[in-house]
Amino acid sequence: MSKILLIEDELAIAELERDYLELSDFIVDIETDGNLGLDKALNKEYNLIILDLMLPGMDGFEICRLIREVKNIPIIMVSAKKDDIDKIRGLGLGADDYITKPFSPSELVARVKAHLTRYERLVGQGIKENEIIEIRGIKIDKTARRIFINGEERIFTTKEYDLLTYLAEHPNHVFTKEELYQTIWGMPAIGDDCATVTVHIKKIREKIEENTSKPQYIETIWGVGYRFKV
Ligand code: CA
Repeated sequence: MSKILLIEDELAIAELERDYLELSDFIVDIETDGNLGLDKALNKEYNLIILDLMLPGMDGFEICRLIREVKNIPIIMVSAKKDDIDKIRGLGLGADDYITKPFSPSELVARVKAHLTRYERLVGQGIKENEIIEIRGIKIDKTARRIFINGEERIFTTKEYDLLTYLAEHPNHVFTKEELYQTIWGMPAIGDDCATVTVHIKKIREKIEENTSKPQYIETIWGVGYRFKV
């Protein structure tokens, strides 16, 4: 059974998360203080850490950085402010995922499972299976970098593939064009770069959607960006 360390100072939230995680057979330790949380993270064995950003004692930025110096287990960072998520990304602290409050406990559980599976595959011995994402009619074989729509393979450019896979890996998460550009192209968006994202989304839709004017997968959130619907 996987053990999870939950560093979160709002006890009601921590307990709710713990209850959901326990329903999925995880063992959960809660720590509400930053220093004590770091101490546990470094000295006990956990499979994954859920780390709130604003904590008494020591903040999540510092805790994440210090854990990463010695451990490579998955870290999911939690923040009440979306701006902080951008900051965490920018700092390159080595967190595996970011989630903004409020979030549904079931989404957290899904992400925990996904990261544990990925991590176990990375460190696991023996024959590695292909890593597959399947959402309704779309199947993405991440190992082979191939995409199938209703069983039929479609050809994507590298960036189209990266963009679709990234969105599909973060279902229901709304990303701005700037965020997508930064993540997929690996540099901050300047000038017309956001239009590049728009063009790529259009091309992806032509390959995956039955009716591109009524997209079933990648939804446009007007004035914000895009999300992959599940
Ligand atoms: Ca907090």
